[in-house]
Amino acid sequence: MEIKIIALGTAGSAPSKDRGLPSIALVYNGETFLFDCGEGTQVQMLKYKVNAYKTKAIFISHVHGDHIIGIAGLLRTLAINNRTEPLDIFVPKGYEKVIRALVTFDSAKIGYRISIKGIGSGTVYKGRGFSMRSFPLNHSIETYGYVFEENPKMRFDKELCKKLGIKGLMFKELLEKGRVNANGKKISISKVAKLAKGKKVVYASDTRPSESTARAAKDADLLIHESSFAESEKKLAFERKHSTAAEAASVAKKAHVKKLVLTHISARYKDSKALEMEARKVFKNTEMAKDGDIILI
Ligand SMILES: [Zn+2]
Ligand SMILES: [Zn+2]
Repeated sequence: MEIKIIALGTAGSAPSKDRGLPSIALVYNGETFLFDCGEGTQVQMLKYKVNAYKTKAIFISHVHGDHIIGIAGLLRTLAINNRTEPLDIFVPKGYEKVIRALVTFDSAKIGYRISIKGIGSGTVYKGRGFSMRSFPLNHSIETYGYVFEENPKMRFDKELCKKLGIKGLMFKELLEKGRVNANGKKISISKVAKLAKGKKVVYASDTRPSESTARAAKDADLLIHESSFAESEKKLAFERKHSTAAEAASVAKKAHVKKLVLTHISARYKDSKALEMEARKVFKNTEMAKDGDIILI
């Protein structure tokens, strides 16, 4: 199944004229999931045609304001429109109260259930056909990245199946019972199919380049990594616990990902092309995200 990723906000810390605050939408199986929810996320959703009402869960990396303030507005808009579906919000353990404050500060009437779940490392969510797990990042407060991974699927050897006379509903029978009768022969599923890994998308923001990310992103189809600074400001990236574009690229290279998308760009860079070029020197298949970009995996 197709994984659709929409870059809603690609700035870091402060917005610019062209970049909103951090949020990435992932649409899968008709449901919307958000990685972070910076101020103005609901407006970006309208602008870039992401259905906010289909939001099932929000995965927060850390509670710096630029990543969470949009929750306050989004929740209330959903309530005005009589949402009844529950909503899950994941946040590093110990910071649940920060999110709760965004839900309750004005005693707004919210007629659907909001669950705020404190997370550590490990599987945090199981959705329709995928799971989400979190892994530690290296930032100035406790921060986690997220791995979206499709469940493994049985993939049939089509040629072999044809040769053996397996067709139509026999595939369903094979999946359900593990064997089938074809042309008078008993055939087990292991002979004609093998378990193949699903697609994988990894979100890592905010962070220094880290081993933990490289491990989590191993062989991923897509790594979305923060890239706050250019190489000329490497020292600043180190001090503020962020990454340069080239540092993000070094993680992508180490992890052998298929594609790297850079986000969380400091508003000081009017033209982010230079950052993209710096990263491409280290990892060729790099794109600098801009608001509204769509990536299909
Ligand atoms: Zn940030
Ligand atoms: Zn931060």
